[in-house]
Amino acid sequence: MDNVIVMYHYVQDNTGFKAFSKQEFREQVQYLKERYKIISLQELVEKKPQGKTCVLTFDDGIKDGFTTALPILEEEGLNGTFFVPTKIFMEKKLLGAQKRHLLLAKLGTKKFVEEFNKIADNVFQVKKEGKKNEYDDELTSNLKFMLDNMDQRKANAILDRIFSKRFNEKEEFEKIYLSSKEVKRLVGKGMEVGSHGHAHLWLGKLPFKDMEADLVKSVEVFNNVFSMHPRVMSYPFGSYSLFTRRLAEKLGFIAAVTTAKKKNISLESPLELGRYDCIDLFPRKTKEKSRKILS
Ligand SMILES: [Zn+2]
Repeated sequence: MDNVIVMYHYVQDNTGFKAFSKQEFREQVQYLKERYKIISLQELVEKKPQGKTCVLTFDDGIKDGFTTALPILEEEGLNGTFFVPTKIFMEKKLLGAQKRHLLLAKLGTKKFVEEFNKIADNVFQVKKEGKKNEYDDELTSNLKFMLDNMDQRKANAILDRIFSKRFNEKEEFEKIYLSSKEVKRLVGKGMEVGSHGHAHLWLGKLPFKDMEADLVKSVEVFNNVFSMHPRVMSYPFGSYSLFTRRLAEKLGFIAAVTTAKKKNISLESPLELGRYDCIDLFPRKTKEKSRKILS
């Protein structure tokens, strides 16, 4: 087996978001299409194809999946897998991840950190302390590290305070997320739709009962809103534990993707499949680098 899974979030032009442009998306899917058979996760797990295969996945229930990615997928005759955090179908509130992206786009890191530090306790102040990730500058890396690792209720309370001063949440909500109607259209067009948890939480860090409540709720919303039982999922933030994996299995999931950057050469562990970010590959990286990663 030689399988590659690729992850997308925003696919849009001319915004402050760290997005993949439409052109980049088109070039990438054409590049992948030449090398791989593009399939769904369910096909991967059920048919166990031996040749080179690729799954295109979209996280966070972002509207771009419908407005910009879908038309390109249709033109190219390809399948996509869309993971939705089901809370967005229950209340018009932005998830922490999108609040964070909007604030970074509008304020820039420096101003965002200033505002954050005005509110946060001393021990949670964001400073340049060298925990640099692969994609961001040092200060942005440290801001993200803090938001990811501090108490999530505290982090969200601070985000809310900074956010509510500058944005109309309902307006941003409608612009950013897929509606349930759009999800149904995706399903109608033969796209694969799966769960991205309910409230987009770090499942691997949660006490078991909270993890269970979140996943059970997500399955319940799928049943109620889309009249279907989700079979595939993407762990929010790529965070999962042995218990998350077992719980996912118990709830009827047959495949789950992580953010571990690796190809899938067997289906020994279908509930912890590796996945690359779209920016790890051509056209963000040279064809040569992509070939190395994918070989
Ligand atoms: Zn996510």
